[in-house]
Amino acid sequence: MEKQGNIRISSENMMPIIKKWLYSEKDIFLREIVANAADAITKYKKLCDLGETSAQEEEYKIVVTADDKAKTLTVEDNGIGMSAEEVEKYITQIAFSGAADFVSKYEKAGGDGIIGHFGLGFYSAYMVSENIEIFTKSYREGEPAVHWESDGNSTYTIGECDKPSRGTKIVMHLAEGEEEFLQEHTLRELIRKYCSFMPYNIYLNPKGEEDKPLNTTTPLYVKDPKECTDEEYKTFYRETFSDFNEPLFWIHLNMDYPFRLKGILYFPKVKKQVELERGQVKLYCNQVFIADNIKEVIPEFLMLLNGVIDCPDIPLNVSRSFLQNDRQVQKIAKHITKKVADKLCELFRDDRARYEACWNDISTFVKFGCLKDDDFYNRVKDIIIYKNISGEYRPVVSYFGEEVTAEEANAGKEAKAAYYVSDEAKQAQYIKMFRDEGLDAIVCDTYIDPHFISYIEYKNPTRVRFLRIDAEIDGALKEAGEEDKELEEIVSKALEGMGVKAKVKTEKLKNETVPAVVNVSEFMRRMSEMNRFYQMGEIPDEITLVVNTANPAVLALKGAGEEERRFAVAQIYYLAKLAYKQLSPEEVSAFTQNNMLLLEKYLKI
Ligand code: ADP
Repeated sequence: MEKQGNIRISSENMMPIIKKWLYSEKDIFLREIVANAADAITKYKKLCDLGETSAQEEEYKIVVTADDKAKTLTVEDNGIGMSAEEVEKYITQIAFSGAADFVSKYEKAGGDGIIGHFGLGFYSAYMVSENIEIFTKSYREGEPAVHWESDGNSTYTIGECDKPSRGTKIVMHLAEGEEEFLQEHTLRELIRKYCSFMPYNIYLNPKGEEDKPLNTTTPLYVKDPKECTDEEYKTFYRETFSDFNEPLFWIHLNMDYPFRLKGILYFPKVKKQVELERGQVKLYCNQVFIADNIKEVIPEFLMLLNGVIDCPDIPLNVSRSFLQNDRQVQKIAKHITKKVADKLCELFRDDRARYEACWNDISTFVKFGCLKDDDFYNRVKDIIIYKNISGEYRPVVSYFGEEVTAEEANAGKEAKAAYYVSDEAKQAQYIKMFRDEGLDAIVCDTYIDPHFISYIEYKNPTRVRFLRIDAEIDGALKEAGEEDKELEEIVSKALEGMGVKAKVKTEKLKNETVPAVVNVSEFMRRMSEMNRFYQMGEIPDEITLVVNTANPAVLALKGAGEEERRFAVAQIYYLAKLAYKQLSPEEVSAFTQNNMLLLEKYLKI
């Protein structure tokens, strides 16, 4: 005989609210129902382990079946089952009040505040059903099987039924317009998304003996890292992320104390150097998928990796802002960061060649990580490497100098200069001068480098400052000597006559062949780059023409006449400028004319 009951909490208003908020994510209902089925099996297994009931020889499983004609979707488990009192208590009271609780949390969190809408539970099935029936039989000997039914509003009926086997069958009568949840490919896709790693076999529309479960009950990440092979890691990567490029390397996280955390993080090969590619870090809770890329839990820069993280200790049915400030969650994020840094340090220490070979792929990640997270920077600062102009990788810290004390700084001493090249082709002449004198410079040619070297300076203000190779003449490139005021004047005057705005300086360079080089103040150049970056307009470069008093042509200027000087200074200036950057169209034509004159003289035309 069926009995009627009233659901005590006022649930009339709940459904429209839930439907409205969760509409875009209503497919989570399947996760919730299947996860409940898995929980019910776990509970039953526990009872068997405790000896409270004797285990049957059977396969623990969850079966999902769609019936097109009846328009029902059924999820059946052979878990613990429920007695009539338990259904009253767990479903009509707990599930309904749980949903009410969820709605109020959801309201407080303002819309999409709860991650993956975790915690809505059984009630979420009403997002797609007009009516739900439960057939359940408790594991307890002699408990009659129970039938329960409700449309999710204020009333329900409960009575006995003749379900012969232990477990629970949830029959969802789909509402008008929800027929997509009867389609096999939709269901397959949803089970793949949410239930891939659930701990019991899940079958969809089984037809017979040869049916295979859709999920992997022991995904690689739950295994002991010592028992996993490289091949298994690669296969897991391919299957989980559908990326057919092999990952560079991976980190297997596995801890139980002080919180439970399992997972694998993969470093993917980058496809393009110019852009940060977003990875995918999937968050699981006890092998149930919650959501992708949860920045409240996983440090943002780690989202460039691909990975799975399973952490049952994260309170997921709270608002995102709560998570952000939760100490436990912060500890978890810190731990993950530490593990990633440890792995990189280990690779650097134990397999330097491999580390260098991977560097191109991981450097953006490492640099971005440092910019985002001081803790990460402190852990990896010694293993940040740069290629130098001889093509060797060296740690950037090896370019640092002794610390400049406050006293020394007051006396005008600056932190050691480290030179860098931003474009090997354009800065070739400067590079040659450096190489000839055995000087070193690092190659900083990725888009993140300008930000990154500023960051390194900011972190180590007394130990290093970076100068682009064309910013100033290093002491090692020149001989000691006085400035040559006379030459300075000659060149300045000629430049003025050409309408060129540039400071003139004389230096005696060790390299005699170069008549002059252009220097651009590092500070001004960075300012102008920043302006360009923020689209605040151009600042013209502040150029210094460094005239080389070791060059015979330069010295000959002194004895030359007005016209020769004008001609020669123009030639020297264009040559120097050309080695620094492109000439403007006007400069090109002036330079061409000058060269024509030279040709004519040379060929005696
Ligand atoms: P939660 O799972 O978060 O407790 P739910 O609303 O999903 O909330 O479910 C409420 C309760 O109903 C569960 O705690 C469980 O006791 C019971 N229940 C739900 N589904 C099943 C099932 N398939 N088998 C046994 N008990 C179930």
